Amino acid sequence: MPEAQIIDGKAIAETVREEITRRAAALLETSGVRPGLAVVLVGEDPASQVYVRNKDRAAEACGFHSLKHTLPAETSEADVLSLVDKLNNDPDIHGILVQLPLPGHIDESKVLRLIRPEKDVDGFHPVNVGLLTAGERASALVPCTPAGCLVLLKRTLGDTLAGQNAVVVGRSNIVGKPMASLLLQESCTVTIAHSRTRNLPDVVRAADIVVAAVGRPQIIGGDWIGQGATVIDVGINRIPAPERGEGKSRLVGDVAFEEALEHAGAITPVPGGVGPMTIAMLMVNTLTAARRLLNLQEED
Ligand code: NDP
Repeated sequence: MPEAQIIDGKAIAETVREEITRRAAALLETSGVRPGLAVVLVGEDPASQVYVRNKDRAAEACGFHSLKHTLPAETSEADVLSLVDKLNNDPDIHGILVQLPLPGHIDESKVLRLIRPEKDVDGFHPVNVGLLTAGERASALVPCTPAGCLVLLKRTLGDTLAGQNAVVVGRSNIVGKPMASLLLQESCTVTIAHSRTRNLPDVVRAADIVVAAVGRPQIIGGDWIGQGATVIDVGINRIPAPERGEGKSRLVGDVAFEEALEHAGAITPVPGGVGPMTIAMLMVNTLTAARRLLNLQEED
């Protein structure tokens, strides 16, 4: 049996970022505007610090104006809201991202709802959620991870996904639900599975496209994957790796990768699959937001 194609998210993300860098330079030349991204981090969560640093670096590498606000964990909700308000009104900032999770005393949804929908590059504002769900993707800002998964699918399967049976495992607002909306708009037949789904292995087996966004290490067995299916593994899970030495760990996805290689037609690895695409799509959204705020036509 031939082994599955491994979808190189890192390489695909690199081509997306190169394209954005080129388009940002063209925008600067024609309109004198540099796309501006503001990332707000409240507190010292180590994972969030890494994500924010990577986003800031990626924005700079694309030639964007990048602003990083790092606030202490005890910052009041009022102060975070006031910073968002200031960024909403800053003409040099086209994209605002508030890194989640926020400390417990801050109401996340209040903060996310204050972000101007036109600058909401995470795509979490109810206006953007509504536009995506209503099928008005062209006016929405789409959450970066599912948008990145769609790019990976199209680069692997071609532009037309119509008629494919897609199963999305996970129904979070950040990944599962927007992913299902995007696939539905591509005219896939979409099933959303979750923790209460019965006979999950059989549901997954029927899919031409599997998107796993559960957050449980290797919960999707390799033999659940239908012959030749395309698998996008969003999960990032750290598990102990004693074979690498005492106290060492490694990252795995939600899919049992090695076994799945024998069944899938193509599959993303973890790491190096969906992760790099998320940041690349944040750059896409920031450039899109800048162009829309400048009333420029969409380029694609
Ligand atoms: P959530 O915890 O918000 O959602 C998990 C979903 O999985 C829920 O809908 C839950 O169902 C479902 N689920 C849980 N257990 C099972 C089970 N046994 N069988 C079937 N479904 C189950 O997670 P997120 O969507 O935020 O993230 C999912 C994963 O993706 C995580 O590993 C996260 O780290 C990763 N991630 C990766 C990103 C990247 O850039 N690569 C970006 C964002 C997330 P129910 O609703 O019924 O509880």
